[in-house]
Amino acid sequence: MNDVKDWLAGEVAAWITSERDKFRPQGAKIDQDDLTILSKYFTPDVLNRAAMVRGVDLTDPPFYPQLIDRGFKSLPPFSKMYAVTFNDTIAISRQADTLDVSAWLGLLVHELAHVEQFRRLGVQEFARIYVASYLRELEYSRIILENHASSVEIAFLASEQPFSASDHLDTLMSGLSKHY
Ligand SMILES: [Zn+2]
Repeated sequence: MNDVKDWLAGEVAAWITSERDKFRPQGAKIDQDDLTILSKYFTPDVLNRAAMVRGVDLTDPPFYPQLIDRGFKSLPPFSKMYAVTFNDTIAISRQADTLDVSAWLGLLVHELAHVEQFRRLGVQEFARIYVASYLRELEYSRIILENHASSVEIAFLASEQPFSASDHLDTLMSGLSKHY
Protein backbone atom coordinates (compact mmCIF):
# COMPACT_ATOMS: atom_id res chain seq x y z
CA MET A 1 0.00 0.00 0.00
CA ASN A 2 2.89 2.37 0.74
CA ASP A 3 3.98 2.52 -2.89
CA VAL A 4 0.42 3.48 -3.88
CA LYS A 5 0.33 6.06 -1.10
CA ASP A 6 3.55 7.79 -2.15
CA TRP A 7 2.71 7.64 -5.87
CA LEU A 8 -0.80 8.99 -5.35
CA ALA A 9 0.26 11.76 -2.93
CA GLY A 10 2.77 12.94 -5.56
CA GLU A 11 0.12 12.85 -8.31
CA VAL A 12 -2.41 14.72 -6.16
CA ALA A 13 0.09 17.43 -5.15
CA ALA A 14 1.19 17.94 -8.78
CA TRP A 15 -2.43 18.08 -9.95
CA ILE A 16 -3.43 20.61 -7.25
CA THR A 17 -0.53 22.85 -8.29
CA SER A 18 -1.23 22.64 -12.02
CA GLU A 19 -4.98 23.27 -11.55
CA ARG A 20 -4.22 26.16 -9.21
CA ASP A 21 -1.88 27.73 -11.76
CA LYS A 22 -4.45 27.17 -14.54
CA PHE A 23 -7.33 28.83 -12.67
CA ARG A 24 -5.52 31.53 -10.69
CA PRO A 25 -5.21 34.11 -13.52
CA GLN A 26 -9.04 34.15 -13.81
CA GLY A 27 -9.47 34.32 -10.03
CA ALA A 28 -11.83 36.98 -8.64
CA LYS A 29 -12.17 38.27 -5.10
CA ILE A 30 -15.15 36.98 -3.14
CA ASP A 31 -18.17 39.28 -3.60
CA GLN A 32 -18.39 42.10 -1.08
CA ASP A 33 -21.79 40.99 0.32
CA ASP A 34 -20.43 37.50 1.00
CA LEU A 35 -17.17 38.92 2.34
CA THR A 36 -19.02 41.01 4.92
CA ILE A 37 -20.51 37.84 6.41
CA LEU A 38 -17.46 35.61 5.96
CA SER A 39 -15.12 38.12 7.63
CA LYS A 40 -16.94 37.35 10.91
CA TYR A 41 -15.63 33.77 10.65
CA PHE A 42 -12.32 33.84 8.76
CA THR A 43 -9.16 35.88 9.26
CA PRO A 44 -8.15 38.53 6.66
CA ASP A 45 -5.15 36.34 5.84
CA VAL A 46 -7.41 33.57 4.52
CA LEU A 47 -9.90 35.90 2.84
CA ASN A 48 -7.17 37.90 1.11
CA ARG A 49 -5.40 34.87 -0.32
CA ALA A 50 -8.60 33.20 -1.55
CA ALA A 51 -9.74 33.78 -5.13
CA MET A 52 -12.63 32.10 -6.90
CA VAL A 53 -13.45 31.17 -10.46
CA ARG A 54 -17.11 30.53 -11.29
CA GLY A 55 -18.74 28.53 -14.08
CA VAL A 56 -15.97 25.92 -14.22
CA ASP A 57 -16.48 22.45 -15.76
CA LEU A 58 -14.99 20.27 -13.06
CA THR A 59 -13.43 17.11 -14.47
CA ASP A 60 -11.87 14.03 -12.91
CA PRO A 61 -8.12 14.15 -12.18
CA PRO A 62 -5.76 12.63 -14.80
CA PHE A 63 -4.75 9.80 -12.44
CA TYR A 64 -8.31 8.41 -12.07
CA PRO A 65 -7.87 5.79 -14.84
CA GLN A 66 -4.76 4.44 -13.08
CA LEU A 67 -6.65 4.23 -9.78
CA ILE A 68 -9.49 2.35 -11.49
CA ASP A 69 -6.90 -0.02 -13.05
CA ARG A 70 -5.55 -0.64 -9.57
CA GLY A 71 -9.02 -1.68 -8.44
CA PHE A 72 -10.21 1.41 -6.60
CA LYS A 73 -13.96 1.83 -6.64
CA SER A 74 -16.34 4.58 -5.58
CA LEU A 75 -14.06 7.43 -6.63
CA PRO A 76 -16.04 10.66 -6.31
CA PRO A 77 -17.06 12.06 -9.74
CA PHE A 78 -15.81 15.63 -9.99
CA SER A 79 -18.58 16.53 -12.46
CA LYS A 80 -21.05 16.24 -9.55
CA MET A 81 -19.13 18.59 -7.25
CA TYR A 82 -20.15 22.16 -6.56
CA ALA A 83 -16.59 23.34 -5.97
CA VAL A 84 -13.00 22.20 -5.57
CA THR A 85 -10.28 24.19 -3.81
CA PHE A 86 -6.80 24.10 -5.28
CA ASN A 87 -4.61 25.65 -2.58
CA ASP A 88 -5.74 29.29 -2.53
CA THR A 89 -8.02 29.13 -5.57
CA ILE A 90 -11.62 27.90 -5.45
CA ALA A 91 -13.03 26.50 -8.71
CA ILE A 92 -16.83 26.63 -8.62
CA SER A 93 -19.05 24.69 -11.01
CA ARG A 94 -22.10 26.05 -12.81
CA GLN A 95 -24.32 23.85 -10.61
CA ALA A 96 -23.52 26.11 -7.65
CA ASP A 97 -25.58 28.87 -9.34
CA THR A 98 -28.69 26.96 -8.26
CA LEU A 99 -27.85 27.09 -4.53
CA ASP A 100 -29.88 29.33 -2.22
CA VAL A 101 -28.06 32.00 -0.21
CA SER A 102 -27.51 29.88 2.87
CA ALA A 103 -26.24 26.83 0.94
CA TRP A 104 -24.00 29.12 -1.16
CA LEU A 105 -22.43 30.64 1.97
CA GLY A 106 -22.10 27.15 3.47
CA LEU A 107 -20.23 26.08 0.32
CA LEU A 108 -17.87 29.07 0.56
CA VAL A 109 -17.24 28.32 4.25
CA HIS A 110 -16.36 24.71 3.38
CA GLU A 111 -13.98 25.80 0.61
CA LEU A 112 -12.40 28.54 2.74
CA ALA A 113 -11.75 25.91 5.42
CA HIS A 114 -9.75 24.07 2.71
CA VAL A 115 -7.86 27.32 1.92
CA GLU A 116 -6.98 27.52 5.62
CA GLN A 117 -5.88 23.87 5.66
CA PHE A 118 -3.63 24.50 2.65
CA ARG A 119 -2.23 27.63 4.32
CA ARG A 120 -1.31 25.67 7.43
CA LEU A 121 -0.12 22.44 5.84
CA GLY A 122 1.26 23.44 2.44
CA VAL A 123 0.31 21.54 -0.73
CA GLN A 124 2.61 18.53 -0.17
CA GLU A 125 1.43 17.83 3.36
CA PHE A 126 -2.22 18.48 2.45
CA ALA A 127 -1.91 15.91 -0.36
CA ARG A 128 -0.06 13.42 1.88
CA ILE A 129 -2.72 13.52 4.62
CA TYR A 130 -5.61 13.58 2.12
CA VAL A 131 -4.32 10.47 0.33
CA ALA A 132 -3.36 8.59 3.53
CA SER A 133 -6.82 9.24 4.95
CA TYR A 134 -8.55 8.22 1.71
CA LEU A 135 -6.58 4.96 1.57
CA ARG A 136 -7.52 4.25 5.18
CA GLU A 137 -11.23 5.03 4.79
CA LEU A 138 -11.82 4.42 1.07
CA GLU A 139 -14.75 6.80 1.26
CA TYR A 140 -14.70 10.42 0.14
CA SER A 141 -16.85 11.91 2.91
CA ARG A 142 -14.66 10.27 5.58
CA ILE A 143 -11.40 11.80 4.33
CA ILE A 144 -10.23 13.68 7.40
CA LEU A 145 -9.64 17.03 5.65
CA GLU A 146 -13.14 16.83 4.08
CA ASN A 147 -14.58 15.88 7.42
CA HIS A 148 -12.99 18.93 9.06
CA ALA A 149 -14.15 21.32 6.29
CA SER A 150 -17.68 19.89 6.60
CA SER A 151 -17.53 20.32 10.37
CA VAL A 152 -16.82 24.05 9.95
CA GLU A 153 -19.62 24.29 7.35
CA ILE A 154 -22.12 22.50 9.63
CA ALA A 155 -21.15 24.71 12.58
CA PHE A 156 -21.62 27.79 10.36
CA LEU A 157 -25.07 26.68 9.17
CA ALA A 158 -26.16 25.84 12.73
CA SER A 159 -24.70 28.86 14.52
CA GLU A 160 -26.66 31.93 15.53
CA GLN A 161 -23.49 33.80 16.52
CA PRO A 162 -20.28 34.25 14.52
CA PHE A 163 -17.33 32.12 15.63
CA SER A 164 -13.69 31.79 14.63
CA ALA A 165 -13.35 29.13 11.94
CA SER A 166 -9.62 29.34 12.58
CA ASP A 167 -10.05 28.33 16.25
CA HIS A 168 -12.47 25.58 15.19
CA LEU A 169 -9.82 24.20 12.81
CA ASP A 170 -7.09 24.60 15.48
CA THR A 171 -8.91 22.12 17.67
CA LEU A 172 -9.64 19.70 14.83
CA MET A 173 -6.13 19.82 13.34
CA SER A 174 -4.07 19.49 16.48
CA GLY A 175 -1.77 16.48 16.07
CA LEU A 176 -3.20 15.80 12.60
CA SER A 177 0.13 15.23 10.81
CA LYS A 178 1.21 12.68 13.44
CA HIS A 179 -1.87 10.53 12.84
CA TYR A 180 -1.18 10.04 9.11
ZN1 LIG B 1 -14.21 19.67 0.52
